[in-house]
Amino acid sequence: MTYPQIILKAGKDHSLRRFHPWVFSGAIQKTGDGVIPGAIVEVVSNTGNYLGHGHYSDGSIAVRIFSFTGYDDENIFWRTKLQLAFDLRKKIGLVDNSDTNIYRLVHAEGDGLPGLIIDIYNDTAVIQSHSTGMHAQKPFIVNALKEIYGGRIQNVYDKSADKLRKNAGEEIENSYLSGSMQSNVGIENGCRFLIDWEEGQKTGFFIDQRENRRLLGEYSAGKKVLNTFCYTGGFSIYALKHGASLVHSLDSSQRALDLTVENVALNELESLNHAVIKADAVDYLKHIDEDYDVIILDPPAFAKHLSARHKAVKGYMRINEAAMRQIKPGGLLFTFSCSQAVDKQLFTGSVTAAALQAGRNVRILHQLHQPAVHPVSVYHPEGEYLKGLVLEVL
Ligand code: SAH
Repeated sequence: MTYPQIILKAGKDHSLRRFHPWVFSGAIQKTGDGVIPGAIVEVVSNTGNYLGHGHYSDGSIAVRIFSFTGYDDENIFWRTKLQLAFDLRKKIGLVDNSDTNIYRLVHAEGDGLPGLIIDIYNDTAVIQSHSTGMHAQKPFIVNALKEIYGGRIQNVYDKSADKLRKNAGEEIENSYLSGSMQSNVGIENGCRFLIDWEEGQKTGFFIDQRENRRLLGEYSAGKKVLNTFCYTGGFSIYALKHGASLVHSLDSSQRALDLTVENVALNELESLNHAVIKADAVDYLKHIDEDYDVIILDPPAFAKHLSARHKAVKGYMRINEAAMRQIKPGGLLFTFSCSQAVDKQLFTGSVTAAALQAGRNVRILHQLHQPAVHPVSVYHPEGEYLKGLVLEVL
């Protein structure tokens, strides 16, 4: 099959030759006939050399490359791509694992599939397309999932509406591509969670904190734990399961707190010392009247774009300083940033400034990041977004 061509300006082919999957609009010399948002295009250098196939869109990232090696049979292509993603999760030990059936199957550029997220919750796959072009591949993707998983995946939910609605003219609704919501309980490291992929944030759960939640569990025995920005209680469940003497789960969303209470019951932990607090985390942190040994700060991305970076840094400083002022001497602060625009160095700098302001002596015990199911291509460092520190606050 032939696809309309995008011809790049001279010298603008270097990043693609290094397998970086984005073509910026400024790099394009000529756009062939039939190139509309969502179209599959063939990208060539200005000397006519093949560079890759990708999806076109009218944003500043004009093409997202999904193949550097050609694109012929659609069924075979998407099946092979998803098989590669599946094989990695198998290698990591997450396929047919009775302790964990919640994992990310496809992490966009990290799996060579820009614009595509697929999260697995037991027998349900939740698909989120971030580009119209990727969204159009749904039939191939669903077929590939069926072939790879067989009966193990019963339900496929497409949750792309929020991501795609902002594209002019898109009328997209979230819907089941197969099955329905039958059971929505998933297991992560032996902890059970209700996952609301229909109404919840992202695809329903923050899968990226799996390993960090486990680490928190290891430090929780006998401790008083404050879990701010708790969402559905991920860190709280681990803390309670591992013997925390008290856990407070704080969020500004009542729906998230209701699910937290349900998750505590689901894990048969309701007899333990747990309470939910509906509050603004910044306000609460300023006026704590409990002597917490462990505080978790896992806010939503403060900077969604580079332009918001300065404001984000101030936000991280404010919450970290407040937590450091209040935490018990020798306490542990699990502090995170999921803002891609704030890199590890900047985040560490913000936390250091917060320590100075709080006048506390602070040591870094662990440097945390996103798990292996959120792989980062070395050619696309932009894929690295989650960073965290475990700090001992003396
Ligand atoms: N730690 C969670 C994920 C956190 S997501 C987990 O392991 O699953 C971020 C959460 O912050 C969301 O639940 C959102 O409702 C909450 N939130 C956003 N702004 C807030 C604020 N100002 N105060 C308290 N919670 C807030």
